[in-house]
Formats: sequence, C-alpha cells, structure tokens
Amino acid sequence: MSKPRVAIFDFACCEGCQLQIVNLEEDILNLIELVDVVEWREAMSEQSHEYDIAIIEGSITREEDAKRLEVIRSRAKILIALGACATMGGVNKMKNNFDLNEVRECVYGEDGKMAHLHTEMTQAVDEVVEVDFKIPGCPINPAEFAQIIRSLLLGKTPFVPDYPVCVECKAKENICRYEYNEICLGPVTRAGCDAPCPSAGWRCFGCRGMVENPNVEAAQEVMEKYNLTVDDLKQKLVLFNTK
Ligand code: SF4
Ligand code: SF4
Ligand code: SF4
Repeated sequence: MSKPRVAIFDFACCEGCQLQIVNLEEDILNLIELVDVVEWREAMSEQSHEYDIAIIEGSITREEDAKRLEVIRSRAKILIALGACATMGGVNKMKNNFDLNEVRECVYGEDGKMAHLHTEMTQAVDEVVEVDFKIPGCPINPAEFAQIIRSLLLGKTPFVPDYPVCVECKAKENICRYEYNEICLGPVTRAGCDAPCPSAGWRCFGCRGMVENPNVEAAQEVMEKYNLTVDDLKQKLVLFNTK
C-alpha cells in the first residue's frame, strides 16, 4: 500500500512551527517512515501538486495567498492548520485592530507605501478554506504534532485537550502568577502544552487559543479576587486571540 503523501506550506509567519517539526530529531525519521513528504520548502527542494495531506503554517494576509490556499485545499484530502498563525491568525492578527496604512508605516517607514509590501486584514486558515484539523500553539509542541499525525494516519481522532492550562499548571504545583500581580490567561486557554510558561515564571499568553466553553464565572472570580476586571483580561487576549 502506498504511503500518504504530505506537503507542508507556509504563509505569513515566522516558520517557527516548521522548525519545531525539524526539532523532532530522531522521531522525525519514524514519522517519515509512515508518509512520503513530497513538498516542504524549509527542508527540501522538490515540489509536487499531488498530495493527500496538506499542512499549512501561517496566516492569510493577501488575496493572492487566499487563492494559493484555495488551490492547495482543492488538491488535499486532509488539510491541517499548524500553529497559532494558521489556527487563529496568531500575533499577525493584532494588526486588524489598527489602520493598515499606519501598520505598514510603523513597520517599514516610508517604504511601507511600496507595492510589494501590500497587506490586507489577517485571516486564520479556516476563515478562507475548510480545515480538517488544527494543531495549536506558538510554537507548536513537537511531541503533540507527532501524536496528532500518528492518530490521523491510524484513522483515529487526535486528542487535543479542551480544559484550561490551569489544570496542568496546578498539577505542577506552580505558584500562581496572579500572586505576582500578573494577568495570566491560563484560566481560559486550552491546555496541552503542560504549562511551560507559568512553570518558568511567566504568565500564560494564551498562545493555544481559548477553550471551547471558557468558565467565565471562574475567570471573573479570579479577577475579582485580585482586584482586576474582565477588561484587563480581554486586553491581554488581544496578543493571540484577536477576532
Ligand atoms: S505560530 Fe508562532 S512559532 Fe508558529 S509560525 Fe506563527 S509566530 Fe511562528
Ligand atoms: S492562572 Fe496561570 S499561573 Fe495561575 S494556575 Fe492558572 S495557569 Fe497557573
Ligand atoms: S502556557 Fe500559555 S502561552 Fe505558554 S505555551 Fe501554554 S498556552 Fe502557550
């Protein structure tokens, strides 16, 4: 039986999630035994229009990118959005809160008027085409990537938690970042990362997106306990969770 053909594509992003795939090191060899990688700009020069699984990294910020994505979708049986940029628009989507001409000028100065720096409102991949599966995180967790790909190849539904980061954080007995007067997004953010940020003394920035049904009451209680408001929490959500 022929192996599923996989192609990896990038759009507007830092390519850090692809780097995490490379960081699988020996495990990448095990995965490559299960699939044929037919296109992956970051790691090989070959290209192909024939693939079963398309993995998309990055957000969509130009009309030509949306058209390219639609062509990829038409060729793939399964389309996976990889990382926060692809699954939610990620940090790129923050620019949607501002005038785009101002954004270009802020980043590029006078050069921002040049045609090749044209940009449009950022869209997540599923705002342009149908997505079959999302792998969250900025960057993705390589072990979770490997587990999800293996599950998909076996025809199983991959497991991605739908409970908050606080569950994993408390299991590690970390001191809560709210005790340090920081606004941590752990109460509303999807777990699965094993809470590396609070474990390293940082607040959670919400890079895996929100759980399906955030416990708003519990979040409100936390905010009240520390003399904060829900608006304070919403301001922090802008980094990764701009709608
Ligand atoms: S999700 Fe984060 S690490 Fe991944 S490509 Fe986007 S900015 Fe880079
Ligand atoms: S709010 Fe943040 S630091 Fe506190 S328990 Fe939840 S994830 Fe951990
Ligand atoms: S703790 Fe929060 S910011 Fe850190 S990796 Fe997990 S979801 Fe992302």
